[in-house]
Amino acid sequence: MKELVVISGKGGTGKTTVVGAFVALASNKVIADCDVDAADLHLILRPRVEKTIGYEGSELAVIDQDLCTGCGACVRACRFGAVSEREGRYTVDPLSCEGCGACAHACPVGAIELKPRLSGWIHVSSTPYGTLVHGELRPGEETSGKLVTQVKMRARELARLEGAKLLLIDGSPGIGCPVIASLSGAHCGLVVTEPSMSALHDLVRVVEVARHFRARVLLIINKADLSPELTTRIEGYAKKEGLPVLGRIPYDEGVIRAQVAGRTVVEDGDGPAARALRELWGRLAAELEIR
Ligand code: SF4
Ligand code: SF4
Repeated sequence: MKELVVISGKGGTGKTTVVGAFVALASNKVIADCDVDAADLHLILRPRVEKTIGYEGSELAVIDQDLCTGCGACVRACRFGAVSEREGRYTVDPLSCEGCGACAHACPVGAIELKPRLSGWIHVSSTPYGTLVHGELRPGEETSGKLVTQVKMRARELARLEGAKLLLIDGSPGIGCPVIASLSGAHCGLVVTEPSMSALHDLVRVVEVARHFRARVLLIINKADLSPELTTRIEGYAKKEGLPVLGRIPYDEGVIRAQVAGRTVVEDGDGPAARALRELWGRLAAELEIR
């Protein structure tokens, strides 16, 4: 089984459009949405949730009132103002607690324990295109590589059980912990970029991260015709770095129409972007030897 992660240094380069098209074109695959911060793949994949597993990504300090002597050391130790006292009773505000453990360390009688708390969920869903594993964070919870890793591990397990040839991962944006978790163990990192200065800047950084994992790194330039000059510059950078450019996708208003209709662009007509994506998928499948 091959593992393909689609990433982009910055948001808004069309990563999800590319993933959606490949999801529709690839056969025998499991899909993982690791873009847990801005998960929008489900808008076009129309998942029906079959199973949900709780995700415990953080800890919460809990005070045992029977042991507490009311010394106040925990209030002084907490930098987040999460512990308060009212009428001699000390309590922790779950919304402010960061789970750092300083209060438990400071408590002279061991009255504070850190307990795992529900930070989100991992869903396993059926879609018209195959099984999708996706994460959901509770409001106020921060994305962590840990949720991405758990989404990926569950997707890998299912891909093996289903005998899938491909695990297609919509990776996290940026270059932080979640994208590192998305890339770990992947065979191929496909970077979707666009001809803009900010995208070029982020491309250089994300390629460095992807290479660190020894994944084969390929490049797609989306909306390439919007700035032929910057597209040439990106291709120049790729050549210098020995980075294969899989191809270009032209700007096409059909992409927005497909998004509004909740469909993948390759199923919503035969515009220039759809044609380019079909061609790119052919090349990518050959690269991955999954035809
Ligand atoms: S675990 Fe950290 S943030 Fe939470 S109450 Fe204790 S000191 Fe404050
Ligand atoms: S440090 Fe421990 S004993 Fe002191 S007030 Fe806090 S919970 Fe109670």
